[in-house]
Amino acid sequence: MITVAVANQKGGVGKTTTAINIATALAATGWKSLLIDLDPQGNCSTGIGISSGERERSSYDLLIDQASVADCLMPTRIPGLDIVPATVDLSGAEVELVSVEDRTHRLRKVLTADTGHDICLIDCPPSLGLLTLNALTAADSILVPLQCEFFALEGLSQLLQTVERVQERFNPDLGILGIVLTMYDRRNRLTDQVADDVRSCLRDLVFESVIPRNVRLSEAPSHGLPALIYDHACPGSQAYMKLARELIGRLPERRIAA
Ligand code: ADP
Ligand code: MG
Repeated sequence: MITVAVANQKGGVGKTTTAINIATALAATGWKSLLIDLDPQGNCSTGIGISSGERERSSYDLLIDQASVADCLMPTRIPGLDIVPATVDLSGAEVELVSVEDRTHRLRKVLTADTGHDICLIDCPPSLGLLTLNALTAADSILVPLQCEFFALEGLSQLLQTVERVQERFNPDLGILGIVLTMYDRRNRLTDQVADDVRSCLRDLVFESVIPRNVRLSEAPSHGLPALIYDHACPGSQAYMKLARELIGRLPERRIAA
């Protein structure tokens, strides 16, 4: 299984939207996909149609009790896509983990078991705390959604420093899958300026595909559906399909699930 952490310490930049729609696109392509909701807000779980009442086991159980992924996952209504949902307990996990030995490797340990998935996408919370550190320690690579706004580059350099620290201390194999520009607004000159700066600094790390600002993407979660299912033809969904194709090209050959 290939594990990808979708991370950025800024909130509202499109992490959850990207995790849900990329996982859906990959599932549609025949990849057995797993989402892990690692944000106590649980937007990923809600957005994929799992109401809070339906969540029995969660990512909290993975981290704190070291429960198995197989015991904590739930199917979604998208064929080939499972999720380990998040519950509000997760907001306490960050504090609980502080006193635990091996606190950065909790997720990595439970992800070593074979669950028959080809890919796992971890939807991270908007911080660089222990939850995100667990995701980066468990992951093969990080996918960074970046909103083209003032200060985007400052936030990005802080994130890349964290990636280096994780590589040095916890996970030497962590790679950067890429940076995807989200909520792109062509009419906004600042957006273009920031996009140019990001591309000239980080070149090939930045995906060619850009996710436009698109109201259909923001409507989909309230229907408990990925935008790709809610409105396959909208510009946002089309952009995520394109991104998924580009992303597959950067992933190592898929390991065929047994
Ligand atoms: P994060 O997980 O980084 O906090 P979200 O994916 O939850 O970000 O996105 C924040 C908000 O913006 C959500 O309401 C989401 O529906 C909306 N949103 C995300 N991407 C887009 C987009 N490309 N166009 C319009 N709205 C978007
Ligand atoms: Mg989110």
